[in-house]
Amino acid sequence: MSEAKPGALARYSLTKRVLVTGGAGFLGSHLCDRLIADGHEVLCVDNFFTGARANIAHLLGHERFELLRHDITMPLSVEVDEIYNFACPASPIHYQFDPVQTTKTSVIGAINMLGLAKRLRVPILQASTSEVYGDPEIHPQTEDYWGNVNPIGPRSCYDEGKRCAETLFFDYRRQHDLPIKVVRIFNTYGPRMHPNDGRVVSNFILQALRGEDITIFGDGEQTRSFCYVDDLIDGCVRMMGTDADTTGPVNIGNEGEYSMLELAQTVLDIVGGKSKLVHKPLPQDDPRRRRPDTSLAREMLGWEATTKLRDGLAKTIAYFEESGHAKAD
Ligand code: NAD
Ligand code: UDP
Ligand code: UDP
Repeated sequence: MSEAKPGALARYSLTKRVLVTGGAGFLGSHLCDRLIADGHEVLCVDNFFTGARANIAHLLGHERFELLRHDITMPLSVEVDEIYNFACPASPIHYQFDPVQTTKTSVIGAINMLGLAKRLRVPILQASTSEVYGDPEIHPQTEDYWGNVNPIGPRSCYDEGKRCAETLFFDYRRQHDLPIKVVRIFNTYGPRMHPNDGRVVSNFILQALRGEDITIFGDGEQTRSFCYVDDLIDGCVRMMGTDADTTGPVNIGNEGEYSMLELAQTVLDIVGGKSKLVHKPLPQDDPRRRRPDTSLAREMLGWEATTKLRDGLAKTIAYFEESGHAKAD
C-alpha cells in the first residue's frame, strides 16, 4: 500500500473529505450544503454555542455527512483533505457574551486547526472578517489597509482575535510552508441567519413581518454592503481551489452600497404590510459607511457577488416566514 497522506490522496480523487468547523452555524451550514452538493464528504465540527441543529438537520443521515460536537479550543485528531475554519461567534451580542472564550476560539482554535493542517499537510482556509479593518480611515477598504482597531475595547475580543488568527495563519505559512487561505468576509445575510442578534437585516425583516415599527438608528443615511450567502460561499470555495501560492487575504463581499433607509424600503416593498419607520438613537461609534473593494477577488478568483439585494432579501424573508421566527416574541 502507498503511504500517501490524505492531502496527497486528494489529488487523485475528485471527492475530498472536508472539515468545516462552525459547520452548524449560519455560514458553515451553507458551506456544508455546497460541499455535499459538489460530491464531497463533510465532517462538521461544532460546539453549538451559536449554531443550531436545525441548520444541518436536513444533512443528518446523509451518507457523506458526519457531525462531531467538539470545541476547537481543544486539540482535534481527524483525517481530512481540506479544512475550512469557520468556528467563531460573529455578532456583537454573541461574541461579547463570553469575550475570553471568543478570543480563545479565534486564537487557540486557529492554533489547533493549523496544527492539524500541518500534520496532514492539507490546505486550510480561515474565515476572517472586515472587522480586522476596525473603524476604517480609508473607504472602500482594500486588503493592503492595516486597519484601525482598538486593542482594549468591548469589540477587541473579536477584532483582535481574528487579527491574531491571521497572524498565525501567515506564520504557519512562513515557518511551516503550510498552504493557507485567508478570506475577509463582509456583512453577509440569507436564510439561517440568527433571528435575534440585533443585526439590521434580521431586525427589519422580522419587524416588517410582524407589522411592527421599523427601527432606523440615526438618520438612516449611513450605508452598508450586504452579500447574499450563496455568493459568499462560492467565493470561499473558489479561494480554496486556488494554487498553494495563493494565500490572500482577499475581501469577499458585495460592493453594492445601500443606506439603511433604502434597505428598510426594499424590505417593506417585498413584505408589504403596515409598518412605519421610526428613528432611534444611533449607537456609539456606528460607522457612516462600509463597502468592500473586491477588485482582488475579481482578479484572483474570477468572482464577484451577483445576487441583487432585492432577490436575496426575498429569499431571506421567505425563510423567516417558513421558519416561524416571525411569530416568536
Ligand atoms: P455563527 O455564529 O452562525 O456560526 C459560528 C459557528 O461556530 C456556530 O455554529 C458556533 O456554535 C460555532 N462555534 C463557536 N465557537 C466554537 C468553538 N470554540 N468550537 C466549535 N464551534 C464553535 O456565525 P456565522 O455568521 O456563520 O460566521 C461564521 C464565520 O464567519 C465566523 O468565523 C465569523 O467570524 C465569520 N464572519 C461572518 C460574517 C457574517 O456576516 N456572518 C462576517 C465576517 C466574518
Ligand atoms: N493539533 C491538533 N490536531 C493535530 C495536530 C495538532 O489539534 O492533529 C494541535 C496540537 O494540540 C497543538 C496545536 O495543534 O497544540 C499546534 O500544533 P503544532 O504542531 O503546530 O505545534 P506543537 O504541537 O509543536 O506545539
Ligand atoms: N441599524 C438600524 N436598525 C436596526 C439595527 C441596525 O438602523 O434595527 C443600523 C445600525 O445602526 C448600523 C447598520 O444598521 O448603522 C448595520 O448594523 P448591523 O449591526 O447589522 O451591522 P454593522 O454595524 O456591524 O455593520
